[in-house]
Amino acid sequence: MTKNEYVRLANTEPLVQLHGNISGKDFVVREYTYGVLVPDYNHPLSCVSVANSSLSIDLWVGCKWQCAYCQVQGSKQDLANQGTMPLNPQRRNQATIEEIVDALVDHPFFLPNETVISIGTASTEPLAPGAVTDSTFALMDYFVKKGLKNPF
Ligand code: SF4
Repeated sequence: MTKNEYVRLANTEPLVQLHGNISGKDFVVREYTYGVLVPDYNHPLSCVSVANSSLSIDLWVGCKWQCAYCQVQGSKQDLANQGTMPLNPQRRNQATIEEIVDALVDHPFFLPNETVISIGTASTEPLAPGAVTDSTFALMDYFVKKGLKNPF
């Protein structure tokens, strides 16, 4: 994909209409996480977004903590099919950690050894026990394995 195409996709914001289960009102929400790099479920970077001054890798949809003040339920993707944030985290796309990081390194927004990488900022608690924590460390390990020193 060319640099211009990546920049165009990062500025695309698909919106969808939702009917509120409790309020009965209709809402327009983002389909993907705010600031997603590539709004296409088939692309590894559909789980990476611009989060303040960092790029956030969000492998998961859902969170066991279910905090009442949680801000990540603002996209259709994060509400999953139940209309609520899933209790058991589910993978956001089917790309492997290697495919996601390799694609991110090729993205024009990414600077080797400089870009701040967030993990789970826009989705879940990255140190939730089990598969989520395992994936958080696997992500960091793969950056190190590639010889990258980006701060997390
Ligand atoms: S993502 Fe964070 S704020 Fe939201 S429910 Fe999980 S722990 Fe709470």
